[in-house]
Amino acid sequence: MAKLYFQYSTMNAGKSTLLLQAAHNYRERGMETYLITAQFDNRAGEGMIASRIGIGDPADTFAPDEDMFAKINARLGQGSVACIFIDEAQFLSHNQVWQIARAVDDLNVPVMCYGLRVDFQGNLFPGSAALLALSDEMREVRTICHCGKKATMVVRQDADGHVIREGAQVEIGGNERYVSLCRKHWRQAVERA
Ligand SMILES: [Zn+2]
Repeated sequence: MAKLYFQYSTMNAGKSTLLLQAAHNYRERGMETYLITAQFDNRAGEGMIASRIGIGDPADTFAPDEDMFAKINARLGQGSVACIFIDEAQFLSHNQVWQIARAVDDLNVPVMCYGLRVDFQGNLFPGSAALLALSDEMREVRTICHCGKKATMVVRQDADGHVIREGAQVEIGGNERYVSLCRKHWRQAVERA
């Protein structure tokens, strides 16, 4: 039986690198993969999954209201796929995660989702909340805070390095910078005792 997988972490933990490596392993064995990322993530241009260490692969994109079951079904109609990889899965909607779960169950194709667990205010992203609820297998991709403890939180900083406490959950293309911290240092950074 195919499974729905969720690999989650905070920012800059190397999720995209892991995704690209896993997809490469399939292709190296002659198996087809289908890569998808969020449409509004254009860090590396339209339809690209890129990692900070300099590797990348072209990818299809998902729009906010797109039917993910129909999308996956259409792709499988063009030929068999051994595994589907979805990057920036935190941007999926609750409904889209259910559509993906249905594709896993009814089309019998494994789907590996990679995404951020919480936003810069410490709240779950909708896609991650649904994936934490519905996935068959979950794994935390670890990175560390400057103190050496596991980083689970992220702060958003402006161009001058000041911590931003309010604003939209999704901010793409600005001058903001994200720094991953442990919860204690996140609380200090946002001055939350
Ligand atoms: Zn720390």
